[in-house]
Amino acid sequence: MNKKILLVFILSLAIILSLWAGCTSSPSTSPTPKPSPEDTGSDIEKESPEALKDPEAEDEKQNEKEEEREDKDPPYLTQEELEKIQPNELGEIMILMYHEIGDREDTWERHYDNFKKDLERLYEKGYRPINLNDLIDNNIDIEAGHTPVVLTFDDSTAGQFRYLEEKEELIIDPHCAVGIMKDFNEKNPDFEMKGTFYTIYSAPPFRQGNLVQEKMDFIIDKGMEIGNHTYNHVNLASADTKTMEKELARHVKKTREYLPGYQVRSLALPYGGIPSAPEEPYLYSGEYQGTSYKNEAILLVGSNPAPSPHHKNFNLNRLPRIRGSQEQLDQWFDYFERYPERRYVSDGNPDTVTIPENLKENLKKENIKEKEIRTYSLTGSD
Ligand SMILES: [Zn+2]
Repeated sequence: MNKKILLVFILSLAIILSLWAGCTSSPSTSPTPKPSPEDTGSDIEKESPEALKDPEAEDEKQNEKEEEREDKDPPYLTQEELEKIQPNELGEIMILMYHEIGDREDTWERHYDNFKKDLERLYEKGYRPINLNDLIDNNIDIEAGHTPVVLTFDDSTAGQFRYLEEKEELIIDPHCAVGIMKDFNEKNPDFEMKGTFYTIYSAPPFRQGNLVQEKMDFIIDKGMEIGNHTYNHVNLASADTKTMEKELARHVKKTREYLPGYQVRSLALPYGGIPSAPEEPYLYSGEYQGTSYKNEAILLVGSNPAPSPHHKNFNLNRLPRIRGSQEQLDQWFDYFERYPERRYVSDGNPDTVTIPENLKENLKKENIKEKEIRTYSLTGSD
């Protein structure tokens, strides 16, 4: 009798265990296709990892998205709303620069508690993240009355994206940058997960060599981005043109080993090093051993907000960034409190550029293209 009970017990335990193992499989470890050896680097290869997914399901998802968009026309603000919101799409935009996110506060490290506080502060003050590519495309699509902010992360350090193994399951470390952003987005869905990771490959990006594929997939699936920071973190101010091409093209090639067809569109200069004028064109495009690269935006290391893409001073070849440190953040949050007219404030409609009448002469006409320009003056002012 006892033996029978024991047998039943062992059998059910085995079934439970096998079911459990099936449910807790770690994030996809399916092999990913390698890029073709002859990488032409032509600019029409827009094929993203999306292309690898089930096309029918994707179509459906796309249709749903489009329907949603049709239901919700972008707002066209009334005079009353203009006066209340006071959009200024010629205002400045902060591009924040982070390196390590960890348990210390240092020049190159932001404490994870403080990084979380940075997100809270941004959120409360009406900032909403956009991607760096949104600046390149001049496609700033955030709610009316809000200010775009770009989060950038250099050097693909361990604290930017770490997995923890818990009960044989992989979870994203709640203390790493991606974990903090994910939690924050879950609590505040209108603060989307946007950001650009300027990876290097001299060590496995974000460390944990066996999990790089999962991390790269996660970043892209969530709508975040990978940018160029050279393969070996080389100072391009002192590199010869051969080295420049090699460093920038190898970065693209390596990125595409994880993300076939991915277009790396911007470069954050290691050490902020700008090459001399005759060598500068190699920052923007070049080729090495069959891989070509094209950087549409160049990010610097210091130290002020960037002009709006609609502003005549906007220069994709020299995008300044602000260090994500307490001192710098305090300084610039304070600046925008004192000079609110310098801050980019969205009209909520990516197809219109709304600005105060008196700023008209600052528009960069060639960047506005088919967008409608709306100007307004406040009642009572002349
Ligand atoms: Zn760096």
